[in-house]
Amino acid sequence: MKKSNIELITSYLDSILPDASCELKYNTDYELVIAVILSSQVTDKKVNEVTDVLFDKYKTLASLKEVNIEQLKEILKPLGMYQKKALFIKDAVLKITDKYNGVVPNSRKELESIHGVGRKVANVILSVLYAIPAIAVDTHVKRIAIRLGIANKKDNNNQIENNLMDILKKDRWSKTHHQLVLFGRYYCTAINPKCENCVLKQICKKDML
Ligand code: SF4
Repeated sequence: MKKSNIELITSYLDSILPDASCELKYNTDYELVIAVILSSQVTDKKVNEVTDVLFDKYKTLASLKEVNIEQLKEILKPLGMYQKKALFIKDAVLKITDKYNGVVPNSRKELESIHGVGRKVANVILSVLYAIPAIAVDTHVKRIAIRLGIANKKDNNNQIENNLMDILKKDRWSKTHHQLVLFGRYYCTAINPKCENCVLKQICKKDML
C-alpha cells in the first residue's frame, strides 16, 4: 500500500476518532479479561449489560472463584454461547487466582493458556492493560482492512494482523486497532456504511468486492 494512502487512513481516523478506546466496561484487570472473553460474537453493549450484573453481584476475584457454574450461566444467558463462556470465565478466574497470584499475566503465552483466550483476546488484554503494542483483528477490523485493500478476502486474521503491523508504525498499532473497531461499529458498518462523507472513498474498494 502506498505511504500516502496509509497516511490518509491514519489521519482520517485521527480526525473522526481521536480518543478511540475500548468500550467494554471494567474496573480491574481480571474484569477486563472476563469482559473480553465474553465479547466473542456479541456486541460490547450487550457484554456491558451482562457484566454490570455480574460485577455488581461478585465484586472480587475471590467471590467469582466461588460462584456456582449454574448461577454463572444464568447471568451470562443473554449472551450467545453462554454455557461455554461460563466455563471459560471459571477457568480464567481459577488460573488468575491460583496460578498467577491474582494478577492478570502480561505475556501472550500465559494469557493464551487460559481457555477462551486466543490471539485476538490476548492482543486486546496486552494492549489495553499493559500498553503493549498489538492489533486485535475482529470482524470490524477484518471488514475494513478488506475494503481498504489492506487485506484480501481470503486472508485469515493472522495475515490481516501481519499486514496491518507491516504498514503501521508500532506506536500506532493499539490506537489504530481501537479506531478501526469504532470506525467499523459506527461508520464503516457491514450494512449501509456511511460512505457519503467518508474521506477514504477515494481508495475504498467496497464496490469492487
Ligand atoms: S467509503 Fe464507505 S465502505 Fe469505504 S471505507 Fe468509507 S465508509 Fe467504509
